[in-house]
Amino acid sequence: MKLVILDRDGVINHDSPSFVKSPAEWVALPGSLEAIARLSQAGWRVVIASNQSGLARGLFNMETLNAIHAKMRIELTQLGGHVDSIFICPHGPDDNCQCRKPRPGMYLDIARRYDIDLKSVPAVGDSLRDLQAAHEAGCAPWLVLSGNGLKTLDSGELPPGTQVADDLAQIVDRWLEA
Ligand SMILES: [Mg+2]
Ligand SMILES: [Zn+2]
Repeated sequence: MKLVILDRDGVINHDSPSFVKSPAEWVALPGSLEAIARLSQAGWRVVIASNQSGLARGLFNMETLNAIHAKMRIELTQLGGHVDSIFICPHGPDDNCQCRKPRPGMYLDIARRYDIDLKSVPAVGDSLRDLQAAHEAGCAPWLVLSGNGLKTLDSGELPPGTQVADDLAQIVDRWLEA
């Protein structure tokens, strides 16, 4: 099984320092949905793992988050793409949960759900905590320079073996060429 784990904000859609709180605020990054569609058509399963502390912060509720994801899925379907499942951490930074990245809980849940060895799974993110969680879980970390990516690159703290690309479209180009 070819499976990829994607962060959402800053990888698939524009991130916002004030959070993505409504379907209207969810805006795809150029080329990202087309890139997911190319993966779908090449037989990849695409899974999202996303910190959504806006839930714990009371900025939006689960119904709104579902509406945001419905918008994403509709736009993706129109391009022939599909997200297999969406894992979220609803907790805040002080909740000390196991799922909020940089902790690896969501990735480990994905491994159990799909019965897959994470060594074969690339995980794409724009923030250091995505890469740290991926590394901790045993995935291959990929940094995109969209979203917070440039800041993350400048931090100089990338986990060993992290690969870097401009954006999701460029990563998919590389995978499908290989
Ligand atoms: Mg992000
Ligand atoms: Zn959590």
